[in-house]
Amino acid sequence: MASILLHHPCHQLLTAKHQPSPKARRFAVRASSSSRSALRVAVVGGGPAGASAAEALASANIETYLIERSPSGAKPCGGAIPLCMLEEFSIPRPSSTAASPACASSPRPTSPSTSARPSAPHEHIPMLRREVLDSFLRSRAESKGARLLSGLVTSLTLPSSPDEPYTINYVSSPTDNSIAGTPRSLEVDVVVGADGANSRVAKAIDAGSYTSAIAFQERIRLPPSKMDHYEDLAEMYVGGDVSPDFYGWVFPKCDHVAVGTGTVVSKPDIKKYQAGVRSRVEPKIAGGEVIKVEAHPIPEHPRPRRVRGRVALVGDAAGYVTKCSGEGIYFAAKSGRMCGEAIARTWERKGVVREEDLMREYLRKWDDGYSVMFRFLDLLQKVFYGSDVGREALVELCGDEYVQRMTFDSYLYKKMAAGVWWKDLGLGCRTVGTLIKAGVLGREMEKLGRSGPGVDQ
Ligand SMILES: Cc1cc2nc3c(=O)[nH]c(=O)nc-3n(C[C@H](O)[C@H](O)[C@H](O)COP(=O)(O)OP(=O)(O)OC[C@H]3O[C@@H](n4cnc5c(N)ncnc54)[C@H](O)[C@@H]3O)c2cc1C
Repeated sequence: MASILLHHPCHQLLTAKHQPSPKARRFAVRASSSSRSALRVAVVGGGPAGASAAEALASANIETYLIERSPSGAKPCGGAIPLCMLEEFSIPRPSSTAASPACASSPRPTSPSTSARPSAPHEHIPMLRREVLDSFLRSRAESKGARLLSGLVTSLTLPSSPDEPYTINYVSSPTDNSIAGTPRSLEVDVVVGADGANSRVAKAIDAGSYTSAIAFQERIRLPPSKMDHYEDLAEMYVGGDVSPDFYGWVFPKCDHVAVGTGTVVSKPDIKKYQAGVRSRVEPKIAGGEVIKVEAHPIPEHPRPRRVRGRVALVGDAAGYVTKCSGEGIYFAAKSGRMCGEAIARTWERKGVVREEDLMREYLRKWDDGYSVMFRFLDLLQKVFYGSDVGREALVELCGDEYVQRMTFDSYLYKKMAAGVWWKDLGLGCRTVGTLIKAGVLGREMEKLGRSGPGVDQ
């Protein structure tokens, strides 16, 4: 539990047959209706969610189109993932080589007055470089048979009957085989919206909105002597100076560091909080060169609707980022894979995919697996990040060896470790003690009681 708190942290592009003339003819793939022998699925967005969905679909021999507007781009992201993701998604072990998506780090949370040192030196948090990870995952989906289309999806035309196809309208990006800016369309039976926090697919199906945090990050290349310090160390900072409701971070990226922070409640002040993080780490980053400045919204809770008709949302488009830690990469990849497998399973069994199938096979299974955890982390964020006293309590708890083991197990491996009852009891008492000291427990429990159960939407 507390460890999660610590982190925060075709291939045929277009075949010759499909080439547009210089007069920008539209490219259209037509899906016939009920007598089809192949299911056609478009996955919009090639981040961890989309690439994982496409891989699962293509592995089941579904005709899969993965549409990404910027295959050479990099999503602004801290890049911290749980250790279990490496194995679960067969990502190469961390190394400092340019080809490896991840480098290793151990976390250290710091409040204005305290710093907790990690006590499990053999374990680490992989830190991904998204520019490497995303193309690695997309290439793997392509190797299973997904067609990667390089283009910006501009709209989705909904069918007027359950047997008609959806039409994806997109504008091609420059590639070897196509002219940039060519309007194209693609007809498919099922759509997976994996196009991130500003999802156009979500808009097209009227999925409703969510509140979002803003996260700001600077990539800084440090002089070699300073980079040594961060070679295998991730730092998290809490305090009113770095964020009123989140944490600031310095995450290693093999050959540079990412320094950033986030907030929901005070977005216009994000640069002030970034200055706060910088001033906390000033001596350690002095002489560094800023190589990139990036900012992006982070969803705060699931959208009111995540499945509509034969369209399903996954990853950030659905709103799957945990509060408290701001962790979204693992949940994006997991939800993408789960959704892709649900579609493939349904097609295999029934030869047709309908809204009720997506609801039952994907959405319900997702909610059964994760909604409690998301709600719990939401509560923890309110409790611990609400005041400096709460933040001090958080870092104090994180200094405890037993808390570290339990939290490492639950964060890194996404499972609750079997605890020792008397230690659990002690931990429970200490937690309640620190929360009472922070004066926030009663207040938050009262609010929770007033709002009652139900998904925070
Ligand atoms: C600054 C920052 C730091 C973060 N740090 C962490 C962290 O340390 N650990 C962690 O787990 N999470 C972190 N997150 C959250 C994490 O980045 C997201 O949860 C994760 O990237 C979600 O993956 P996704 O595939 O759903 O969406 P995205 O990664 O946003 O991918 C969406 C893809 O869709 C493409 N796309 C969008 N619109 C279109 C369109 N119209 N047509 C075609 N393609 C389109 C985009 O180019 C992009 O490639 C951070 C977020 C931010 C902003």
